[in-house]
Amino acid sequence: MPFFLLILLSYLLTPAAKPFVAPDYLSVVPQAGDGILSILRRYELDKYRCNLDKFCELNKVTLKNSLIKGKKYLVPIQLRAFDGKSIRSSLGISNFDVAKGIEIFNTLMLNKGLKSKAFKVDKILWVPHHTLNNCTSTEAKTTVSTNQAGKAPISENERVDPGYQKLSNPGKRKFPIFGDTYAYTPQLSSLLQGRIYYIDAGHGGIDPGAIGRYGGYDLCEDEYAYDVSLRLCRKLIEHGATTYMITRDPNDGIRGGTVLKCDKDEEVWGGQRIKTGHADRLHQRSNIINQLYDQNRKAGITQQFTISIHIDSRQNKQVDLFLYYQSTSEASKKLALNLHQSIRNKYQIYRKNGKYRGSVTTRNLHMLRECKPIGIYLELGNIRHPLDQQRIVLESNREALAKWLFDGLAGQ
Ligand SMILES: [Zn+2]
Repeated sequence: MPFFLLILLSYLLTPAAKPFVAPDYLSVVPQAGDGILSILRRYELDKYRCNLDKFCELNKVTLKNSLIKGKKYLVPIQLRAFDGKSIRSSLGISNFDVAKGIEIFNTLMLNKGLKSKAFKVDKILWVPHHTLNNCTSTEAKTTVSTNQAGKAPISENERVDPGYQKLSNPGKRKFPIFGDTYAYTPQLSSLLQGRIYYIDAGHGGIDPGAIGRYGGYDLCEDEYAYDVSLRLCRKLIEHGATTYMITRDPNDGIRGGTVLKCDKDEEVWGGQRIKTGHADRLHQRSNIINQLYDQNRKAGITQQFTISIHIDSRQNKQVDLFLYYQSTSEASKKLALNLHQSIRNKYQIYRKNGKYRGSVTTRNLHMLRECKPIGIYLELGNIRHPLDQQRIVLESNREALAKWLFDGLAGQ
């Protein structure tokens, strides 16, 4: 090839091969009622302040601006080409955890239906602004401040549990245990009036339960069991039940987000610290439940239930949600079978291609054996299996789980 042609070719090719253009960002049109924060939340960007700043910079808006209907806005997610090999080589980065974080983010967006194809299929990676910019999570900041607040004496409100609230003013019923966003819990029906539920979210305190690895993060059984438990508890209250959260976290209400921070500050009903020994810990909560059960029974309440919520890790496979009942109680068996059937039905409606593998059996477990109320013990899945992990890391799935459990318990 003549030399001048080579020069010409390299002149023509260089700019095309390495374009110096600003990265493309994902654009969205706001949904009805959307603000900047709700968009950031939808795209799981709300935990990092830098994402909000970037959104404002990209769109030349501030938090005070309301978004214009029908207008396109740029979201701080870069659209980058996937080279078919790895996220690291595609982006020219070396940090494995950052790459794993981006991979998880893409899976999340796919699962939420926000991204239509997997990046390995459409060769487009969604790279959230915070992952390449070393941003500090606002969650870390919140934790510091709530820990400080945690040292203050517990307010009177905090001691008042759902079950003891007066039902006369449903619009103003406040249950601090659910956290700021969900504390107000109106009563929607009296369907479950007269029923008492003791909700035992498994583990807590120094015992995180099973731990799964998800990207660069630990998933602690106690945190996810607690979040689903709170969501279930709130639904039961909405429909008139009396409930007791036996495990309690003074500063984690119902939480959004995918990776729930592992902490150790859970306590039990009545404000005691969770005991350290395994057997002591189980006796501590069965004693509390039995004491409350006796008091409530004397007061004439006959329908009392214990719901223990866990996430399994003993098996190597996907397990789905499965249940145990009390071998000595027909009522427990019946409730477990009903709940099982109800979940199977939901699978048929919502997961048309998904086969439900969850089992229902009995097992000699302390909380089933020692607690006086009718008891059910649930395992929400396998915390170490990627498919089961999706059931708990997506907030929408935790909410759906609680809803399914509620429907099953309420016999709907
Ligand atoms: Zn467990």
